[in-house]
Amino acid sequence: MEKRVILDDKAIDRTLTRIAHEILENNKGTADLALLGIRTRGVYLANRIQQKIEKIEGVIVPTGVLDVTAYRDDIDDRHAVEVTAYEIQADLNNKHVVIVDDVLYTGRTVRASLDAILDQVRPKRISLATLVDRGHRELPIRADFIGKNIPTALTEEIVVMLDEVDEKTQVYIK
Ligand code: 5GP
Ligand code: MG
Repeated sequence: MEKRVILDDKAIDRTLTRIAHEILENNKGTADLALLGIRTRGVYLANRIQQKIEKIEGVIVPTGVLDVTAYRDDIDDRHAVEVTAYEIQADLNNKHVVIVDDVLYTGRTVRASLDAILDQVRPKRISLATLVDRGHRELPIRADFIGKNIPTALTEEIVVMLDEVDEKTQVYIK
């Protein structure tokens, strides 16, 4: 199958540096900021953004994990999404929570994440950062911080590799 590399490790690093700056500019610093990464690769991206913010501002922003399960129906590619848990060592009430994921597609994962968060706490604001927006939304959801817009065909797949879990760091289209 054909493979087209869209972002290499250096490009991903620069992209996450930019997103860290955008979050800080948007939030006017680190006050009341928290990051929640969607398992699996969103967690590593959230950790990388946390480290970049620490480098820029010298502040360690509370960062946690959203655990998501998707039930895919292979026939029409629709899927139901459930958030099984979220974990963070911080009170998210009145915080600005930034959800971090690798790929934004239909928006169902983000919708489920919003439900899971709002079931338990009342953040003052929730925003969304994604490394890749591949289009094909089925819900009125959009990202506030986008690494790269990659318009895709439904038959294509974006492969995100991060060296925390994969043998290298790159994004390619398949
Ligand atoms: P959605 O719920 O928006 O349809 O899909 C987003 C979730 O599914 C994300 O957590 C993302 O990791 C995964 N996902 C959807 N499409 C792709 C894709 O093309 N490539 C990768 N790597 N993940 C995808
Ligand atoms: Mg995912």
